Amino acid sequence: MSFLGLDLGGTKVSVGLLDDHDTFIPKSYEIVRDDVEIVDHLVAVISEHRASDLRGIGLCVPGWMSIGQQEVLFAPHRPSLVGQNLSEILAARVGMPVVVDNDANAAAYLEVQVGALRGIDCGVVVNFGTGVGVGVVLCGVVQRGAHGFAGEIGHGYFGGDGRCACGAQGCLELALRQCFFTSDDSQSERNARRERYLDLACVALQWTVRAWDPSIIVIGGGIGVESSEFLLNLDSRLRNRLGPAYPPAYPYLVRATGSGHAGAYGAALMAAAAIRR
Ligand SMILES: [Zn+2]
Repeated sequence: MSFLGLDLGGTKVSVGLLDDHDTFIPKSYEIVRDDVEIVDHLVAVISEHRASDLRGIGLCVPGWMSIGQQEVLFAPHRPSLVGQNLSEILAARVGMPVVVDNDANAAAYLEVQVGALRGIDCGVVVNFGTGVGVGVVLCGVVQRGAHGFAGEIGHGYFGGDGRCACGAQGCLELALRQCFFTSDDSQSERNARRERYLDLACVALQWTVRAWDPSIIVIGGGIGVESSEFLLNLDSRLRNRLGPAYPPAYPYLVRATGSGHAGAYGAALMAAAAIRR
């Protein structure tokens, strides 16, 4: 019995298969085409990777899911998904159960099952990319809050009056997005933006530590897993930012499991747990 995991990102879908022995096999990154409806694209990806013993699909999305994962409430990169019950729609199209969750929650589930948060009471996964998503684990269980939005610190107020895609003003994610550079930017401008991104990422970690006091922080997401230098930089900056009054049991920063396929791997494990139950 196998399960397919999909992680829908801004430009690509990461795909992998959880086999009969619970081994995750990364399959591919499928580029999302702009000329195809996203649901049609997901159905095509599932068909392409459909094994004969496939029993279910796990999908994670970069957006807010209502509690119970019934509906997409906010997806800045995928506005066409808002208001849709992806689980029902996809299950009807592919003829098997589909479990859908937020990408940071899927990454947190992966860490609880096979990664750094196994046996840990209180830990968090912080995914850094164009935005920042946090998966919160308390008492060994991924927390979703009362409505499904637990850990959405990227949409906390950081400053300014710019309007975020979520509708609020001055969100931290707006500031993070301003740190991305283009090929036209000079080297000194790129360096300055990298520094700014690190500072803002550190703000996100500081908020995370103040809110949940985790013993371990797992750093993931596109930026989080690509550079070990990023993690080292964050570690030293966070120590300075927390100040001397912070207890000696300083949170331990580790790199995410899954080699860039954390969302797909976590989503496949979620599907396996839900369907085998
Ligand atoms: Zn926002």
